[in-house]
Amino acid sequence: MIPAQFDYAAPTSVEEALGLLAEHGDDAKVLSGGQSLLPVLRMRLNAPGIIVDITRIEELKGITDEGDTIRIGAGTTYQEVLDSDLVREHLGLVHKAVTEVADPQIRHRGTLCGALAHADPAGDVGAPVLALDAQMVIQGPDGQRTVPGSEFFLDLFETAINDGELLTAVVIPKHTGWGSHYEKFVRVSHQWAIIGIAAAVRTDSPGGVIAEAKIGLTNMGNIPLRARDVEAALVGQPATEDAIAQICAQVGEGTDPPSDLNGQADYRRHVAGVLTRRAVLAAAGA
Ligand SMILES: Cc1cc2nc3c(=O)[nH]c(=O)nc-3n(C[C@H](O)[C@H](O)[C@H](O)COP(=O)(O)OP(=O)(O)OC[C@H]3O[C@@H](n4cnc5c(N)ncnc54)[C@H](O)[C@@H]3O)c2cc1C
Repeated sequence: MIPAQFDYAAPTSVEEALGLLAEHGDDAKVLSGGQSLLPVLRMRLNAPGIIVDITRIEELKGITDEGDTIRIGAGTTYQEVLDSDLVREHLGLVHKAVTEVADPQIRHRGTLCGALAHADPAGDVGAPVLALDAQMVIQGPDGQRTVPGSEFFLDLFETAINDGELLTAVVIPKHTGWGSHYEKFVRVSHQWAIIGIAAAVRTDSPGGVIAEAKIGLTNMGNIPLRARDVEAALVGQPATEDAIAQICAQVGEGTDPPSDLNGQADYRRHVAGVLTRRAVLAAAGA
């Protein structure tokens, strides 16, 4: 099927884009990499009157070192994230999760911020970004505001971005020297995650005692989740199978994962425990 007819605009500044969004209200839709929006339009699940293409806005592009944090602009593709030495060195978990997103074709068009704005709970980048305490930078007619990841994802495909606003960047604290691992559970390669576990771990020595752990869950609810209880319980534990298996097995407690052809909720809770153990051990270098 082809999309319903729409007008098209390609602004070259954030100000111009916001002007278009203000002018057309909820009849406008932002286009970034198009890898989720175009399938939605083609299936006629949405029929906006105008598409505002933000890929020609230079001020949205690029990855910058801001001292304690790394800023990833909304116009940055997954491939540019993968090619970035800054991301590889300081945000290993983001780098590992992005390698698991779809395939090279999609990664050359899709953007990390587009995926965050789309907020598909099965998307691979929400949980790692949440786990690393990212801040989302949103710009609108009333100026700029910053929203922590923990307040950004509201529900299925719903975020704190209001009509007329743009996500302009994600700012992530550096986790230099942390170990990290993204465990993606799929039935078929390149598929969306049935479950994904994002783990970043700081140990006193490789495979040693866990000093800090950060864990994000993909597709274990309507939004990406943080496993704070498990994170806290892991502190002070040696990074060994015996020491952490029981703790990680509780990661599904209190979650409400989907039940579908890929697995029932209880099955997902069980598998999440196994994957969390694997991810934490891999991240700890054990
Ligand atoms: C075949 C296929 C396989 C895929 N597999 C995976 C996978 O395994 N894992 C995974 O995580 N993803 C997967 N994806 C999705 C991919 O990651 C998309 O790129 C991503 O979900 C959306 O990013 P985008 O830049 O393409 O955004 P778009 O499709 O352009 O936009 C997505 C939505 O976000 C809004 N939006 C985009 N940018 C902004 C912004 N800056 N401010 C405000 N609103 C904005 C748009 O209006 C739209 O509603 C797959 C996609 C395809 C087509």
